[in-house]
Amino acid sequence: MSDYDFDLFVIGGGSGGVRAARIAAGYGATVAVAEEYRFGGTCVIRGCVPKKLFVYASRFRDDFEDAEGYGWTTKGTRFDWPTLLANKDREIKRLEDIYRRNVLSAGAKVFDTRATLVDANTVVLAPDGRKVKAGTILVATGGHPVKPDIPGAEHAITSNEAFHLKELPASILIVGGGYIAVEFAGIFDGLGVETTLVYRGEKILRGFDEDMRDGLMAEMFKREIDVRVNADIASIEKSWSDYTVTLKDGSTLEVECVMFATGRSPNTANLGLDKAGVKLGEDGEILVDADSRSSVGNIYAVGDVTDRVNLTPVAIREGHAFADTVFGRKRWTVDHELIPTAVFSTPEIGTVGLPEHIACERYPKLDIYKARFRPLKHTLSGRDEFIVMKLLVDGLTDKVVGCHMLGPDAAEIVQMAAIALRMGATKADFDATMALHPSIAEEFVTLREKRPAPQKPPAKTPLQRKKGYDETS
Ligand SMILES: Cc1cc2nc3c(=O)[nH]c(=O)nc-3n(C[C@H](O)[C@H](O)[C@H](O)COP(=O)(O)OP(=O)(O)OC[C@H]3O[C@@H](n4cnc5c(N)ncnc54)[C@H](O)[C@@H]3O)c2cc1C
Repeated sequence: MSDYDFDLFVIGGGSGGVRAARIAAGYGATVAVAEEYRFGGTCVIRGCVPKKLFVYASRFRDDFEDAEGYGWTTKGTRFDWPTLLANKDREIKRLEDIYRRNVLSAGAKVFDTRATLVDANTVVLAPDGRKVKAGTILVATGGHPVKPDIPGAEHAITSNEAFHLKELPASILIVGGGYIAVEFAGIFDGLGVETTLVYRGEKILRGFDEDMRDGLMAEMFKREIDVRVNADIASIEKSWSDYTVTLKDGSTLEVECVMFATGRSPNTANLGLDKAGVKLGEDGEILVDADSRSSVGNIYAVGDVTDRVNLTPVAIREGHAFADTVFGRKRWTVDHELIPTAVFSTPEIGTVGLPEHIACERYPKLDIYKARFRPLKHTLSGRDEFIVMKLLVDGLTDKVVGCHMLGPDAAEIVQMAAIALRMGATKADFDATMALHPSIAEEFVTLREKRPAPQKPPAKTPLQRKKGYDETS
């Protein structure tokens, strides 16, 4: 008879935790999951899914404008924020229920409460302090947005609140230059909000390929998003109707809403990890090995709480690998290289592999293939928007080591290109692939003109990949 109530106790019912619980239960383990808020976690409740729904909503404006060149009359269209919120909330609730049902139907027990550790095998459940023992603990508690410590920071929202604003503001100032800042700038702009983005770095999307950064910034300017780089916020003051924001250069702005997209931190505070002896990194993340095992043998951690690559599919895969390895006797580890990712700005970015600045340090002979063009659709719509597509090729082996795109459907196109890169495709393989005409994606198999990268000495240390949703970048 086991001394434990469960073989596995999972803290956190988000992407990573739910996948791990379901797979472990499938191997016959007795499993419990504690979720303190809503099943589905960040991705479903206040991340990828509601964000993408907002992105869709924001892009109809372009569609209506573009339609006129094709003979449609679209006068009289109007947007209703409460309708979008209500429909989004209904969909999120549906997904939340599916997540919960999936956990239950796998045979796991659910605790709708906060769970913390008191030692390496004991979890205490709020609010009654009930103690539960488990042989293995998985911490999958995700992360949370952080705000800079400036006067008036309490007046600003983060992405969490952006999904629940009672009214759509007439104007917004977004602080940050990473994925989330840029995506929300596109969302608010598309919905007709006067949008300003303030970023302290010299260019948005640090870590991404320079052509994507430059290309997107140019498109944002064309859309009249007021992008201010090398600028930072000093304070926020509430006036009777809106907010007065003072920047560090002393200039001021009046806006109806201020949003911080200035970084996320792992949810490790007050979890009892110190009592269990779990070691944390400098940013509060749980330090784990390739098997997602922490410094304590029976405690594992997956997803954003480990701050490796903060993306949903990565959290899911880490949870799956953990469960297969620990409960299914099928050891495998997650490869954190070649992870395709997108920025759902308008236009969007899709990327897989290395950006040019890293590739040219890794590969002594790097060939660059690039195209910048106006898509066929805009010959009639009249929209002044350009697509940028780029392949980076190791000139010695002909292997494609980076694939980047700025333009419509970049996420969809690059997801497919990621398979080719994963399989080690060469530029010759891309060239031998028949074009699908007329399409935007065909450009990736018809790129002919190469430009050698400026020569740089090879890097001495392995270069770190950019993290997923690192808003500070
Ligand atoms: C605005 C935004 C947009 C994003 N867009 C994308 C995107 O387009 N694509 C993409 O791949 N990724 C995106 N991400 C990132 C993605 O959402 C995360 O990487 C992913 O959700 C991480 O999953 P997780 O399982 O680690 O944590 P989470 O999904 O955050 O789950 C953690 C869960 O643990 C619960 N919890 C925390 N502490 C406790 C406790 N003590 N007891 C009980 N429960 C607890 C939380 O309530 C939460 O439900 C986005 C993130 C944000 C914020």
